[in-house]
Parts: sequence; C-alpha cells; structure tokens
Amino acid sequence: MSRLLNIVDACVYYEKTQALHNVSLHVGAGEIVTLIGANGAGKSTLMMSIFGYPPLHSGQIFIGDAEVTRLAAHKLAGMGVTLVPEGRRVFPQMTVYENLLTGVVHRESAVISKIYDTFPVLGERRHQRAGTLSGGEQQMLAIGRGLMSQPQLLLLDEPSLGLAPLVIKHIFAVLEMIAQSGTTILLVEQNANIALNFAQRGYVLVNGRIELSGSCASLMQDKMVRQAYLGLNV
Ligand code: ATP
Repeated sequence: MSRLLNIVDACVYYEKTQALHNVSLHVGAGEIVTLIGANGAGKSTLMMSIFGYPPLHSGQIFIGDAEVTRLAAHKLAGMGVTLVPEGRRVFPQMTVYENLLTGVVHRESAVISKIYDTFPVLGERRHQRAGTLSGGEQQMLAIGRGLMSQPQLLLLDEPSLGLAPLVIKHIFAVLEMIAQSGTTILLVEQNANIALNFAQRGYVLVNGRIELSGSCASLMQDKMVRQAYLGLNV
C-alpha cells in the first residue's frame, strides 16, 4: 500500500521541553489509522505539527512522495489534507451554513448538499447559529467543515471528546461511511476502545514516544493496552 502520510523521526519542543521524541508513523492510502494515548501524551502536538504549529525541530513529513515538512499550512490544505481540531472550534455566532463556507475558498453547492446528506441535522439547522447546537451537532459541523475541501486525508483530533455514547456511535458510523468512500483517516483518540474498534492499524503514544504499533486486533490483545487504555483486567 502506498504511503499517503509518512512522518519520520519527528521531534518537537515547546521551548526547552521535548514533547515528541523521534515519532515515526505512516498512513497508507485508503487506510484508517489511529493514534491513541493518555492526556498529555503529545497526540494533538503531532497532529498540529503536520501543519507546522509547532514546527518540527528535526524529522520529516511526506504527503505521498512530496516532502511537506516546512510547507505553509494552506499549501498542505491544497494537497488535500484537512485537520478537524480538538474541541471542534466552530464559530458560535455564525450559522451552520456560514461555518461550512469557512472550510473552502470557493463555495460549491454540490459539496454542501453532500454534507447535508451525510449529516441531515446540519441541513435542517443550516440557518441556526452554531453556538446553539449541541456538542454532537457541533462536532458534526466541525467534520462537515473539514469535508468541504473534499480531502484525501482527514486528520481527526478527539472527535468523541465530551460526547454521549449514542452520539459517538452515530458520528463514528458516519466516519465509517466517509472512509468507505475513499477518504484516508488518521484518528487521534484518548478513548482507545472506540479508536481500536474503528481503525485498522494503530500506534500508542506514551510521553511523546511511540511505544507500540500494529493492527488494532493485535493491540487489543496486548496486555499493556488492555490494562492501561481499555481498562480491562488481565
Ligand atoms: P490531550 O488529549 O489532553 O489533548 P495530547 O496527547 O493531545 O493530550 P498534547 O496536547 O499534544 O497532548 O500535549 C503534549 C505535551 O505538550 C503536554 O505535556 C502539554 O502540556 C505540552 N504542551 C501542549 N501544548 C503546549 C504549548 N502550547 N506550550 C507548552 N507546552 C505545551
């Protein structure tokens, strides 16, 4: 499988503190990969460093064969890479429709219609201010906004955060459809149970280092993962 995203030996510092230590991770075209880890392990740092904030101190990032390590974020977006950030970050005073338009340079009604088909609640509430939506609806809006650029690689940072189990189930069912339609996904999650059941392959980040990787089926059998991340007795 050809690598769509390839991160090689990424090191990141916040001032003098090293947040990522030689992190290497790849995502094949069409794959669903997850990065799990505890609060503060460095998951968001890795996602954001793909876009250059914070920048890599050393290491390299490739999209396909192209090195993008020091490429401006908007150029990366132009290459079909989209981040749905942690905490949704929708514009509360803007309507659903206006929020969706911030995801693209040119408005394309066909793309918006497709997003309303994917998340019907967004269509029903298109003229409602985003700040009045529920947490789950705001997450759908954040994902919908990410889809406006029709990305080939969708980076999702903790889409389950703070949501009720039924809402999470719904959102992941939709993400599954998005993946099936050919979008490659890298999912960052604190909720290992959801992430390992959703993805095909995974990495475990501990204090800024990849401690373990493999198929999700094998990770779910791993003693350390079962104990520390799945809350199971082993
Ligand atoms: P969470 O699930 O809580 O978001 P995470 O795995 O995404 O956790 P990061 O947010 O990437 O973890 O944080 C990794 C480490 O870097 C933590 O120790 C955090 O305190 C630190 N850190 C994150 N952002 C900054 C920043 N802007 N300045 C300094 N330190 C930071």
